[in-house]
Amino acid sequence: MDDDATVIEDSSILVRDGRIASIGSDRGDPPGAGDTVIDASGCVILPGFANAHTHLAMTLFRGLADDVDLQSFLERVVGEESSTLTPDRVHHGVLDACRESLLAGTTDALDMYWFPDSAVKAGIDLGMRVHTGEAFAGFPTPERRSVEEKLDALTASGERVPWLMPHSVYALDDEQLRRIAGTAEQLGSRIHVHAAENAGEIKLVREQHGATPIEVLARTGLLTSRTVIAHAVHLTDRDIAQIAEAGATVAHCPWSNLKLASGVAPVRALLDAGVRVALGTDGAVSSNSLDMWSTLRLAAVLHKNRESNPASLGARAVLAMATRHGAEALGLRGGGILAPGHSATLQVVDLSGPHHAGLGDAWSQLVYSARPSDVRDVLVDGEIVVRDRRLCRG
Ligand SMILES: [Zn+2]
Repeated sequence: MDDDATVIEDSSILVRDGRIASIGSDRGDPPGAGDTVIDASGCVILPGFANAHTHLAMTLFRGLADDVDLQSFLERVVGEESSTLTPDRVHHGVLDACRESLLAGTTDALDMYWFPDSAVKAGIDLGMRVHTGEAFAGFPTPERRSVEEKLDALTASGERVPWLMPHSVYALDDEQLRRIAGTAEQLGSRIHVHAAENAGEIKLVREQHGATPIEVLARTGLLTSRTVIAHAVHLTDRDIAQIAEAGATVAHCPWSNLKLASGVAPVRALLDAGVRVALGTDGAVSSNSLDMWSTLRLAAVLHKNRESNPASLGARAVLAMATRHGAEALGLRGGGILAPGHSATLQVVDLSGPHHAGLGDAWSQLVYSARPSDVRDVLVDGEIVVRDRRLCRG
């Protein structure tokens, strides 16, 4: 997944101390007694997927709010969450999500939810990298702590925190949004937020803030090069220019957007403006699956239709979104690219199934034919976490 989309055939990858030591046809020294050898003949090895927007623990509520729009969805889900969630339940929900994700080649997820420490712990339990932090919303949450209480605690500790996650501009007022932006600056945090998801939100934000969601993010200091915006479906030309100028990333979530009838994000226009676009599944209530394979395939075909141009988003571009651009959005230096010195975070994809018969171009196979069950082995930072389609840590 480097700049030239290099394909190295008939090769081997040597992993040492969590990193890729070498890639090439020169196999170097024969394996030693303590080495593990994975024969990946007939397979493609590519970086693990980075799911750039999800709510992992929502596996607990899969099927709770199907066939409704975003506003009805939120009413049902927020009520259920605030009456039933505990740190322990979140831990169990995230364990299920990590199992589903790892078995389908996803090694990293940007997770916005309540009780984030429980999510991080579940990731550690199974060997998946869960990227998360405090989430903020003005509506009642299961944590029973106000936005101000959380910000006071973060500021008082002064510790660096990787992520701050304002839910959306419609769930917070201007003053709260500005305080979150200031705290993120102070603590070196990246920012993750929902914005411009559907037409109802645009109307609501116009009434509340007198501007578009992107304009509100910009004026409150939340639109930065460290920001990942989930959805970005309904954008003005000015919004697109502002996102590009700020260097923010858009996490495109096509399954969720189509299922909630929210619309189709202007991905081609965002890419043309120079915006980094990554891919997300969203939570298991709004898309019912954490499968990045179907997400990248849907993205590829959706934008061909949106633009009436089959070349508008090709196989290589969507694979880059699911790997390299996702890793960049998560701040993983050198992530999403297989190269010496980079983290050995990768998946071995078996292309021997009958649905791969007639194998032509590997990029096309991966995007248009592959499925989660083709993922045979997964490594995260050099540790084998999936072997022969089974989780290694249970
Ligand atoms: Zn979401």
